[in-house]
Amino acid sequence: MNLGIENGVDGLRMMEGYEAMRIEPVLQCIKALLSPMSGIVDTHSLMLSLVGEAESYGTTFSYNTTVIGGHREGNTICLHISDSKALENWDEKSPLQPELVLVPNFVVNSAGLSAPSLAKRFDGIDSEVIPSSYYARGCYFTLSNVKSPPFKHLIYPIPEHGGLGVHVTLDLNGQVKFGLDVEWIDGVDDILSFMNKFDYSLRTDRVNRFYPEIRKYYPSLKDGSLEPGYTGIRPKLSGPKQGSVDFVIQGEEIHGVPGLVNLFGIESPGLTSSMAIAEYVAGRLSRL
Ligand SMILES: Cc1cc2nc3c(=O)[nH]c(=O)nc-3n(C[C@H](O)[C@H](O)[C@H](O)COP(=O)(O)OP(=O)(O)OC[C@H]3O[C@@H](n4cnc5c(N)ncnc54)[C@H](O)[C@@H]3O)c2cc1C
Repeated sequence: MNLGIENGVDGLRMMEGYEAMRIEPVLQCIKALLSPMSGIVDTHSLMLSLVGEAESYGTTFSYNTTVIGGHREGNTICLHISDSKALENWDEKSPLQPELVLVPNFVVNSAGLSAPSLAKRFDGIDSEVIPSSYYARGCYFTLSNVKSPPFKHLIYPIPEHGGLGVHVTLDLNGQVKFGLDVEWIDGVDDILSFMNKFDYSLRTDRVNRFYPEIRKYYPSLKDGSLEPGYTGIRPKLSGPKQGSVDFVIQGEEIHGVPGLVNLFGIESPGLTSSMAIAEYVAGRLSRL
């Protein structure tokens, strides 16, 4: 709660369990922290609206285009660009040949899961400054056979190591999802993460871990009511048994290139924080 208040979240309130269970009758808890200003968004519509707004200010988006690396010329990172299709037949050993070299004033490396491996492909950046990367898969299961959602709020249990805990998410259509669990992925090398060749398949047997986790706060969850949803991968900066690490927004003071900002470890709540991150990065670059 104190951290929330320090971060400017309005209206946070500790509640006794009976109060929380009055507003969420199927919930079981001893205490709860209510965040009345939290909400949900339709992420796809949000992205479309941001694209539209950016285009109205003259932005050009280059889809199906991959930054395959870069090199440093003085204070600038020149970006090596390729058609994404050309990468499909790459043998992953021979050097990639750029079809275009861009010489931008500013580069924001916001390549998500690939951001650290992409930064390593920038010649002239000391790879020592790029933090170690870890990856954790998580999956969602959806609640089926319900006439109306059992909850009115998003419900977050106490976080687990590496994740927020299997929590309740509601979307704008009223669908209820439970997730994400944490499954650490071993043996990810730079090529796998650069090419985003992660295994996104959902192992349905993971549902057996979901029932007991969910029943800690939703004891009336019925057997057989969870259906496979989808998986996602988190880009993490700390591994199993290590303390959690915040986002790393890395500028010239670390890597020495004035117009380059690397965004590492932008896992959840990276979407919620995206406007704040953008403002911070734009502020840094506008001072150059
Ligand atoms: C399952 C799941 C649920 C989540 N739920 C929430 C939530 O409820 N709330 C929340 O706040 N956050 C949530 N997050 C986290 C949020 O999605 C991320 O923090 C956010 O998407 C990070 O944004 P990004 O732009 O840094 O990276 P990304 O969204 O990963 O985007 C990176 C982009 O870069 C592109 N790219 C990669 N490499 C290259 C390259 N070499 N050249 C060109 N383009 C490249 C990729 O194709 C991609 O489009 C969730 C994440 C997952 C996985």
